Amino acid sequence: MSTTPAPSASSASAELRKPPYLLVVVPCYNEEEVLHSSAGILHEQVATLVDNGDVAANSGILFVDDGSKDSTWRIIEELHEQDGTMFHGVKLAHNKGHQNALLAGMTYAYDTGVDAIISLDADLQDDPNAITTMVNDYRSGAEIVYGVRDNRDTDTAFKRGTAVMFYKVMNALGTETIPNHADYRLLSRKALAALMQYQEENLFLRGIVPSIGLPSSKVYYKRGERQAGESKYPLHKMVSFAVEGITSFSVRPLSIITGLGIVSIIVSIAMLIYTLVSVGNGHAVAGWGSLMCSLWLIGGLILISLGVIGEYIAKIYIEAKHRPRFIIEQAI
Ligand code: UDP
Ligand code: MG
Repeated sequence: MSTTPAPSASSASAELRKPPYLLVVVPCYNEEEVLHSSAGILHEQVATLVDNGDVAANSGILFVDDGSKDSTWRIIEELHEQDGTMFHGVKLAHNKGHQNALLAGMTYAYDTGVDAIISLDADLQDDPNAITTMVNDYRSGAEIVYGVRDNRDTDTAFKRGTAVMFYKVMNALGTETIPNHADYRLLSRKALAALMQYQEENLFLRGIVPSIGLPSSKVYYKRGERQAGESKYPLHKMVSFAVEGITSFSVRPLSIITGLGIVSIIVSIAMLIYTLVSVGNGHAVAGWGSLMCSLWLIGGLILISLGVIGEYIAKIYIEAKHRPRFIIEQAI
């Protein structure tokens, strides 16, 4: 595991920040097969941090049951009965998906007054040993610490290929994402407060968090296999997640329509020139020129009109999101 240097807290103090009251937020959907062992491993991690004085004594783990149909919630209740300081739980009434479960957990944690949260999947595919490094980076001044996979050997070639493509498309469309970073990250209270200002319906944290723009660092780790149970992200969920990521951040697909319209008009002009040249040297085919030129011209005009309408829809879409217009990093 390696790390990029965390930004220093401020020029005035090179000291570490005080040990944070930390909650590890774990979304769980039908995770009865892994929950006991994951809870044990996380308990050990957090207890060590508490013992070393890296995090506050009341730090713990917050499980979010995302409307599971198995015994997930019963296990969370048992864990809470065993150790009420370490294990906490929130149960959602319906299955609302990974991103919403995460948001529910983060909002709940924020309301309890946390200094920082770390979000982590229940199957612990993302190495929980990186938690210590994340907390160290936070204490050195980072408001956001991204967990980045430095190998994806355990993912299928298909998943790796599509992931590379996805990050390329996102960046080409002007959305900053951190390649190979999923939802394993630390957010300070300040970063959480900024996130709470995003009221949009379709949440895509991997795009929103980098757009907050607070001081950040990266922690690299190796991604492991799911210990037990099935992936809760089948192909159709992955595809709709990718589409959501693209459409909730970029209105550029709408501008592409205008571009296509312009190309179509250029083609019609080229055909007009070709037709005139053909008429000049007597090779013109009757009717071809007028038909093709008008076809491409009308097509182009329709596309440009759609593009113009698209630009207005894009404006309405952006307004409807009510995103924060600025985020203050510091005031003196
Ligand atoms: N998850 C969730 N709600 C859902 C689907 C998944 O809370 O509707 C949780 C799941 O329990 C796990 C995390 O999201 O903690 C990631 O899911 P998974 O490990 O199955 O995805 P993969 O690693 O295969 O991409
Ligand atoms: Mg997983």
